[in-house]
Amino acid sequence: MPNEPTQTTSGKRPAPIAPEHQRRLGEILTELAALGFCLPGSLAERHIRCPRPGCHCHADPPKLHGPYIAWTRKVNQKTVTRNLTPEQARRYGPWFQDNRRLRQLTSELHALSLNAAAEAEEWGEK
Ligand SMILES: [Zn+2]
Repeated sequence: MPNEPTQTTSGKRPAPIAPEHQRRLGEILTELAALGFCLPGSLAERHIRCPRPGCHCHADPPKLHGPYIAWTRKVNQKTVTRNLTPEQARRYGPWFQDNRRLRQLTSELHALSLNAAAEAEEWGEK
């Protein structure tokens, strides 16, 4: 029977979505709407040794160059790195923070939605 409306497993109507799920959904959407630009990836401070022989970075004890702030992210499953100046890292800090919050909120929204659907359909604990 093609294009028949999908039936629930039990054939029953789904239960209404619990008010606490609706409330949490509203809170998540409000927080999402307040986000700004979101830059993916993470920042790490690096000190490096240059290829110039006799440079102080090869001395004993070595005095390494840096700090450089390495921004790494995945592009088509490959890691892409770009060095940021401290000033750039400060300027874009909120963009990285908002991206972390975006990911947290996305995870929570997925969990909440799975929970709400499972309760409505009485799918049990799976
Ligand atoms: Zn050096």
